[in-house]
Amino acid sequence: MRAHLRAWLSRRAFLRAAAGTAGMVYPLSGTVAAAHAGRPDERSVNSAALSTEPGSRRCQLGENTPAPARGTTLSQNNPLPSFRFPLEEQPARVAAGGTAKEATVAKFPVSKNIAGVSMRLDPGGLRELHWHANAAEWGYVLSGSCRTTLIDPDGRWAIDEFGEGDVWYFPRGYGHSIQGLEQGCHFILIFDNGAFSENATFSLTDWLAHTPRYLVESTFKLSTAEAERLPKQEVYIAAGPVPPPLPSFPARASQNPTPQHHRFPLLGQTPRRFNGGTIRTVSRREFPVSTTITGALQELEPGATRELHWHPDADEWQYYIAGQARMTVFASQGQARTEEFRAGDVGYVPMGYGHYIENTGDERCTILIGFNYGLYTEISATGWLASNPALVVATNLGLPVEVVERMPRAERWFVPNEPPR
Ligand code: MN
Ligand code: MN
Repeated sequence: MRAHLRAWLSRRAFLRAAAGTAGMVYPLSGTVAAAHAGRPDERSVNSAALSTEPGSRRCQLGENTPAPARGTTLSQNNPLPSFRFPLEEQPARVAAGGTAKEATVAKFPVSKNIAGVSMRLDPGGLRELHWHANAAEWGYVLSGSCRTTLIDPDGRWAIDEFGEGDVWYFPRGYGHSIQGLEQGCHFILIFDNGAFSENATFSLTDWLAHTPRYLVESTFKLSTAEAERLPKQEVYIAAGPVPPPLPSFPARASQNPTPQHHRFPLLGQTPRRFNGGTIRTVSRREFPVSTTITGALQELEPGATRELHWHPDADEWQYYIAGQARMTVFASQGQARTEEFRAGDVGYVPMGYGHYIENTGDERCTILIGFNYGLYTEISATGWLASNPALVVATNLGLPVEVVERMPRAERWFVPNEPPR
């Protein structure tokens, strides 16, 4: 970081600390003020908050975030649940050909409508043939490459290959499999149902193991000895050979591909660029098969903030790919919670809740986001205020009209690091 920027940041921190002590102007907690000012008693300030989440190394700011505006009071015991879940710190389910960690409403209570999985497949590792009764599946490849097979209810099929930055969408109930190629792969899955669990999918081996043997033999034309070799329980992720290149990897059925494309190269999309960050989005507009989930890849430059906004139609599920960030989720009735995020964490914002994301690190912060709605919809604070007459805003905020006239006249999206006025 450049020296003058560093100097300004520390001055800003000092001002915030002073404001926090006075209990006005900046809605920052004593915890943050202490951290910024390097006060030695940070640990004791934090202890009450930390005790709500044993083992956490991050500060939980929610409990002592001061009132965001005059006249508002916050309970000392924040009634809001945590909006953060350290997904990559969870124990993995280990199978022969790969591993999986999941975030469901069972362990992450706020995530009622979206669940997620971080899955790693070895080279040749096969997430076995399965379907999901209660959720569509949206995938994003973080590294490596994989191949999927898919069948739809009309018997049409697709075999597709995915590399870093590619997205897939499998509608609820469609049968599918995923296999790691030469380098294996790591991908994030999002499901539009918070109660969805990777441990409760409808898997081929589990199904056949619970079907009378004679019926399996007659259905698939297997001898008794051959049927005897079938797995006795769910395989989940099988170990296997890396499949050959696509031309020599045909489906067993005749050519009958699905008309809808299930692959979208999100990272290959030219992003919308702003001063402070970029955003790529994929909704059903760009990717028609993805009717129930919209995805976004958001990059925040150091110090920049994705501005205050809310989503009127969707819950937001975040996976922090790189960097670190702070998010405050505003839940109305004087309730808000501020938490710190870093790579491997999941964040969640219920539909309609106000929020922002601030890059608190020295490197770019990259976030994968999924919304449980087929279109991207949002309302930003700057756009909202710009859409109102100055006098309305002035009366509402108790500011002179001249001050309101200096405020942004259009939606900003990203607020870059810039010196205060
Ligand atoms: Mn699946
Ligand atoms: Mn958002």
